[in-house]
Amino acid sequence: MSKKTDTPVKDNTSLSQRDKSVIWHPLTQHKTQQITLPIVKAKGCKLYDVDGNVYIDAISSWYTAMYGHCHKKLVNAIQQQSQQLDQIIFSGFTHQPAVELAENLLAALPDKISKVFYNDNGSTATEIGIKMALQYHHNLGRDKDTLIAFEEGFHGDTFGAMSVSGLSVYNGAFEKHFIKVVRLPKPNGKNNKLVLTQLKTLCSQNKVAGFIYEPLIQGAAGMKTYDKSDLNDILNYCKTQNIICIADEVMTGFGKTGTCFASQQIETQPDVICLSKALTAGMLPMGITACQDYIYDAFYDDDVAKGLFHAHTYSGNPLACAVAIEALKLYQSPEIQQQIQHIIEAHQSFKTKIKNHPNLKSIRHIGVILALDLDLNIERYSNVRDRLYQFFMTKGIYLRPLGNTVYIVPPYVISRAELSQVYRALEEVLEFEF
Ligand SMILES: *Cc1c(COP(=O)(O)O)cnc(C)c1O
Repeated sequence: MSKKTDTPVKDNTSLSQRDKSVIWHPLTQHKTQQITLPIVKAKGCKLYDVDGNVYIDAISSWYTAMYGHCHKKLVNAIQQQSQQLDQIIFSGFTHQPAVELAENLLAALPDKISKVFYNDNGSTATEIGIKMALQYHHNLGRDKDTLIAFEEGFHGDTFGAMSVSGLSVYNGAFEKHFIKVVRLPKPNGKNNKLVLTQLKTLCSQNKVAGFIYEPLIQGAAGMKTYDKSDLNDILNYCKTQNIICIADEVMTGFGKTGTCFASQQIETQPDVICLSKALTAGMLPMGITACQDYIYDAFYDDDVAKGLFHAHTYSGNPLACAVAIEALKLYQSPEIQQQIQHIIEAHQSFKTKIKNHPNLKSIRHIGVILALDLDLNIERYSNVRDRLYQFFMTKGIYLRPLGNTVYIVPPYVISRAELSQVYRALEEVLEFEF
């Protein structure tokens, strides 16, 4: 019989090891990333690991759990629905949660958005937006095959979504398989005329079907904000050319930028809006692609082939719809609206406090999103970036730096004390020797 060691093997190690032998993780180079940390519980703003360490979820688990983890009302909504109707094919059937959610969402979405197409994640939400744009023109007998997008945008990891995203480690290997896309520089206040001229030249060939953009702020690019009036000029021009404007609000949706949707801060409204992430408040995967009537009408025909023949097995899943209804109610509650205002004000004072720090390259905030660029020259997935990540973990804060950009999108329910703890760590990282 082999002798037992004195130090008990931590659960942590064993679960990590079991994980390593059976699981291939997303966005992970398994040769260089050794640790995947087992999380055993999440409640409110906090994540609990297997060793009893507690972390503030400063990015709301990729902008999903905005009302806090395992919120009682959300858990109840799923519980109730799961006893009534769990899943039903959404071609040929409908149900109360799907209709109610669509009605409630349309009341909150920009005016002309009037139809909701259910799907199951952010990438499929944009993928369907792209397909709506291409098939819209196809159905009208127009030969338009090109999409326009911004150079550094991110719209997801399926092929259409990858094609319209900026080139990076995410999609570089697949470039020659992309659909037709032309990438424009994002307007930055100085290049506006140039961008518009480029757009006009592109459009002169009459090939552009749609334009996809992240309104006000590009998430995966490193929380890069840009000017709404510059974007508005582009949207206006697109409208004159019958180019379908697709707002990817997968990240910005449900209050992140201070309004329910970022598009509501821009004068010219999109034709299509893509939603996911906070839609179900982190509870279940779901995406929505919502559009204006004139697009729906171009698919409405005696000819079956003019319909949108796209479906996901879990489209309009009743559990996801039920939880999304409750999530929207939470978003619209006075308590959450107040919390959002409180976070915005706190970010503003924090920004004022540290903006002249010598180790800070820049700081920006919009709504509850706060981003700092440290004055360091590092790669997106580098060693230093990993040390930055570890630094925050040892401070009890979970966030994911992108290169030298450190950003937070805290759950709306974060307490003043928790937010102060995050700010303190952000200040400390400015003094860190790399
Ligand atoms: C996350 C994200 C996506 C992709 O969503 P998934 O659910 O991860 O497929 C698309 N667009 C934007 C702006 C996102 O932030």
